[in-house]
Amino acid sequence: MPDTNLITTDAVIVGAGPVGLFSVFELGLNDIKCHLIDILDRPGGQCAELYPEKPIYDIPAVPVCTGSELTERLLEQIKPFNPHFHFSQMAESLQKTPEGLWRLTTDAGTVIDSKIVVLACGGGSFVPKRPPIKGIEAYEGKSVFYSVRKMDKFRDKNIVIAGGGDSALDWTINLQPIAKRVTLLHRRDEFRAAPDSVLKMRALVAEGKMDLKIANLTALNGADGQIETLTIQEENKLLGHLPCDNLLAFYGLTMKLGPVANFGINLHENLIPVNTADFESSTPGIFAIGDINSYAGKMKLILSGFHEAALMAKKAFAIIHPDRRYRFQYTTSSSDLQGKLGVADAAA
Ligand SMILES: Cc1cc2nc3c(=O)[nH]c(=O)nc-3n(C[C@H](O)[C@H](O)[C@H](O)COP(=O)(O)OP(=O)(O)OC[C@H]3O[C@@H](n4cnc5c(N)ncnc54)[C@H](O)[C@@H]3O)c2cc1C
Repeated sequence: MPDTNLITTDAVIVGAGPVGLFSVFELGLNDIKCHLIDILDRPGGQCAELYPEKPIYDIPAVPVCTGSELTERLLEQIKPFNPHFHFSQMAESLQKTPEGLWRLTTDAGTVIDSKIVVLACGGGSFVPKRPPIKGIEAYEGKSVFYSVRKMDKFRDKNIVIAGGGDSALDWTINLQPIAKRVTLLHRRDEFRAAPDSVLKMRALVAEGKMDLKIANLTALNGADGQIETLTIQEENKLLGHLPCDNLLAFYGLTMKLGPVANFGINLHENLIPVNTADFESSTPGIFAIGDINSYAGKMKLILSGFHEAALMAKKAFAIIHPDRRYRFQYTTSSSDLQGKLGVADAAA
């Protein structure tokens, strides 16, 4: 394992959904530094992926906000603690090191040693839906991709981006300046993405800087995992063969528990039973908060996860700072907490 990839920190959080994000705040107030991993390419979990534009009405003291607004507000709130995000990476394995730390490895080769692990994995990891095209498996990871890990991989390439949601539109706009040519391929001339992204994409098409094709993708043609062309059709009529070096397909995501099932943690019906005093699992040092845990009376609500994060952080403090006494403090009146939040002057 290359040493350059080894990161050492206090806490690693699997999942950057609302509960993972808020736990950065609670841990930060307790002087605990965090790294977060998410298979998605952005924070927000279900709020960002499943209902970014839908209103949420039951966040305390916020009468209404959308999934994206909640994510933005949480990111603003945790800024003082400078969390490190590792997006588009699957937390794949967890082992104990001889030194007694937890070693978490991602499928991108990131290795993080930490004193505690917080599983805020929600309903599981979001995994891409595979386009229903015969033989696509042979091209996956070689010339067919379902996420962008390094933009440079697509420099000077002829790229076809398939899909009509936010990921397809965002990557069309971001990769257009560096790719040789980008074609957005969608089955109808209507998009589920943010209106602003759709306008930007249409402007690029009008300026002749990229192509938009309204058609169905029906076959990949190539050899040894390398695509040469894509067959496109309208209904049953062949429209032609699109030259293509790389296909980026964004056909939506489904949630699966994924590798967490192999972490060696006690599971019950794909959920992690926890102690409700501190939300630790039956494995010491491993906590489970948010939708992934189970206990008597559990309600899968964001506010439940926020409460769980606060109690988890208190126990985490005892593990990470065993030489220090825990002091219960209010942010309203504690100059210590206000200093950590960078608001000491404003609060004085
Ligand atoms: C349509 C809809 C509307 C809702 N409305 C409300 C509402 O009004 N009020 C309310 O309180 N709740 C609502 N909910 C429920 C709420 O969204 C969830 O309770 C909340 O998202 C749980 O947050 P979480 O952080 O625990 O998990 P999630 O939001 O599920 O985030 C978990 C994250 O972990 C990542 N992950 C998991 N495993 C791995 C792995 N191995 N490696 C890398 N990443 C991983 C996932 O990719 C995901 O991003 C709604 C849910 C839906 C679907």
